[in-house]
Order: sequence, then C-alpha cells, then structure tokens
Amino acid sequence: MKPFAYARPKTVSEAVALARGGATVMAGGTDLLGLMKDGIAAPERIADIGGIEPLQGWSRTKGKGLRIGALVPLVELETSVELARSIPIIHASLAPAATLQLRTMGTVGGNLLQRNRCWYFRDEAYPCWLKGGVRCFAIEGDSRMHAIVGAEECVAVAPSDLAPALIAYDAVVALTGPRGQRTMPLADLFVAPHGRVRREHVIAPDELLVEVRVPENAMSRRGAFEKAMERKTWSFATVSVAVSAKVIGGVVKDARIVLGGVAPVPWRARDAEKLLEGRALDDAACQAAADAALERAEPLKDNGYKVPLARELVRRTLQRLA
Ligand SMILES: Cc1cc2nc3c(=O)[nH]c(=O)nc-3n(C[C@H](O)[C@H](O)[C@H](O)COP(=O)(O)OP(=O)(O)OC[C@H]3O[C@@H](n4cnc5c(N)ncnc54)[C@H](O)[C@@H]3O)c2cc1C
Ligand code: SF4
Repeated sequence: MKPFAYARPKTVSEAVALARGGATVMAGGTDLLGLMKDGIAAPERIADIGGIEPLQGWSRTKGKGLRIGALVPLVELETSVELARSIPIIHASLAPAATLQLRTMGTVGGNLLQRNRCWYFRDEAYPCWLKGGVRCFAIEGDSRMHAIVGAEECVAVAPSDLAPALIAYDAVVALTGPRGQRTMPLADLFVAPHGRVRREHVIAPDELLVEVRVPENAMSRRGAFEKAMERKTWSFATVSVAVSAKVIGGVVKDARIVLGGVAPVPWRARDAEKLLEGRALDDAACQAAADAALERAEPLKDNGYKVPLARELVRRTLQRLA
C-alpha cells in the first residue's frame, strides 16, 4: 500500500472541504482499503468520516418515513426488531450479505458506493477499460459473473444487495458537497459506465452521501428479497431480486422488481412491473412477470446460466410476496 495522509474530520463541512482538496472519503474502509491493498486505488489523502455524528443513526418517524444515516453499520439495520417488522426486506437483503465482521464494519453509504467486483477490475495486472485502458477483458475473457442486461463498454455488475431492496421501496439519497445539497432517487445514484463515464456512481469526488430516506407512502408496501450465491455466506450475488408492491384486495398496484448481479446498475424490470399492474398475484402472473423480466437479456459467452436463474428467482420472489 502506498503511504497516504490521514484526517478524521468531525463535521460534514470539514469532510467536504477535505474531499474538495482531493482527499478520498473512507467510512468503514472494508472496500476502499481492499482496493488500496490490491493497488487499484492509491489516494494520497484519506478523510475518515467515521466520527461525524450527524451521519450516524437511523430513525422511523410516523408520517415522515425512514431516515438512515450514511454511517449506520449494516448490522445495525439487519438486527433491528423494529425494522424487521416495518420493512423486513432490509433484513432479508442484509442477512446473506458478506460476513458478520464485514456487516459490522461496513456502512450503508459504503455499501451503496462500493466498487464493482469484476475480477479483472480487482487485479492490478489488467488495465481494463473502466480503469482507463482500451478494452474490457471480461467480454472476451471469463464472464461468468458479469452482466446479462444493460451493459455498454463495461459488463461488470452492481454488487450491493441493499441497493435493490431500497430501490424497491422508492428510496431517495441526500448528497452534500461544495455546491450545496441535492437529493435524488437512489436508483439515479448508479450509472452504467459508458463513453466518458468510467465510473459506477454519479456522486462527485467532493460530495458526501449523507443519508438514505424511504418515503412514508412506500412503507406500506409488501416486499420480498431473494439472493442466489455460490456459497451460503461471504459471497456476492450471482443474482438477487427485490420486489415490492401494494396489494389491495388481492390485486397488485405499483409493483417494483429490481435485480442485482445482472446489470451494471440495480436493474428495474419495468416491463414485468407493468405486466403485474392490476392483476392478482397468482402463479400465472408470477411466471409471466418472470418471463418478461428476462426477455431482453443478452448473456455473454460464460453467463448464459444467469438467465434461467434470474427468471426463476423473480418468479419465486414474487410468489413469496403473494
Ligand atoms: C469478502 C467480501 C464480501 C462481500 N459480500 C457482499 C455481499 O454479499 N453483498 C453486499 O452488498 N456487499 C458485500 N460486500 C461489500 C461490503 O458490504 C462493503 O465493503 C461495505 O458495505 C462497504 O462499506 P464501508 O463503509 O466499509 O465502505 P468504504 O470501504 O469505507 O467505502 C466504499 C466506497 O464508498 C465511498 N464512501 C463511503 N461512504 C461514503 C459517504 N458517506 N459519502 C461518500 N462516499 C462514501 C468510499 O470513498 C469508497 O469509494 C463484501 C465485501 C467483501 C470484502
Ligand atoms: S467488465 Fe468493466 S471492470 Fe471488468 S474488465 Fe470489463 S471494463 Fe473492466
């Protein structure tokens, strides 16, 4: 690891000033430090935001929805009895993520902003397109874990399990930087790398992710999450599926179907969502939606298996919702 200067700001504005001066923000460090040890990231300065009070904690206020500070450790959300009752999809998405140690150190902001897990990206010997090179090694190389939909120059997949779950609940993120504050749907934080955009998130290097909010009107949704993985623990999703809907009189309204592990961003299966609108969530509807969700899939040479896997996982997750 290359030497770096270390600062521990106490306030958001101190952290933003450090980031504006070129420091890289670090929360739990479980992803960033790995990238540094592997020679993929080499920041000269680190701003360790772990001590900033306003970024800690979460709260559920009736009428105002759920607010989750960026620094909340994943385990705190996973183990909350209150959250398990009011929005169980959060526990469902976090329990199979990483390991208990990583969920204890890892934070909500860091989870959403973690870099992708493409093995060529993580290996400093491969100067791939996303790292400023000219080619994507995965397209012709080993593409078992890569995208089947929505990719352009880079076929790496969005790795976060929490992101699809929160997007299925219409979550919004608040960012702050030298130009002030902005909010956006969590889904818009993610971008499929393309053209000059050689990154996975739209957050600027001098911005902080401050908090995630789930609006009150989304809290009444029913939700379900399923994850397929190579091992039962310490494994990223080969495919994950988060679904939510309002089910009124047995009929689906405003369905959300969001897939992880299949695209460079958490992937909204909008055609499948439309198909469910106004229908009863019976076996035929679950199957039809699952088929529609994967209709546009274009697997690479090694990851054709993800198409039936994702289709079946969508079907099962919808059945769990029912
Ligand atoms: C072996 C292993 C297995 C894993 N398995 C899974 C899995 O199955 N599912 C899953 O979802 N995740 C998995 N992870 C990822 C893990 O959840 C993340 O590493 C963790 O959540 C990152 O949080 P952190 O606070 O440590 O982030 P950090 O490493 O501190 O930061 C990650 C990135 O986010 C930026 N950042 C962090 N916080 C902020 C902020 N508030 N504002 C602006 N930028 C910020 C940092 O600059 C950095 O680029 C795994 C990780 C490992 C190492
Ligand atoms: S998929 Fe993306 S990260 Fe992986 S080698 Fe290709 S360009 Fe690089």
